[in-house]
Amino acid sequence: MAVAEYVLTTDEHPSAEQVHARVAKRWPYLSRATVYNTLNLFVKEGLLKQLVLSEGKAVFDPKIERHHHFIDDVTGRIEDVPWDAVKVGNARLDGYDVREYMVVLRGRKARPSSVRPAPPVIPSNRKETKKPKEPKRT
Ligand SMILES: [Zn+2]
Repeated sequence: MAVAEYVLTTDEHPSAEQVHARVAKRWPYLSRATVYNTLNLFVKEGLLKQLVLSEGKAVFDPKIERHHHFIDDVTGRIEDVPWDAVKVGNARLDGYDVREYMVVLRGRKARPSSVRPAPPVIPSNRKETKKPKEPKRT
């Protein structure tokens, strides 16, 4: 139930390891095997999709209806892209029976203009100069 509560409602596209880490915060004795088996069951039952969006990294997606994905180069965050936002000219190939397709877009997400990045910090090697003490006059 704890696995379902998180993974079936999230929009984060977590890996199995991330699901385990998240659920283990509340249920520290929940084993990896239990989490993995539960995820596989959800995939088998069609409640969850397992996607390999970047090499060697499988993630889980509760959004079953067709959609595309955007992966932010900077943060690695995977976001859903509405199906209609991307037009694929021809998804048919002679000699192939295409069951489904999905576009993975990569790049940088434009930051909202109201949130300006902090100005760059220019490292300073200069030490504060202290005024030499005036010799005491006696
Ligand atoms: Zn998705």
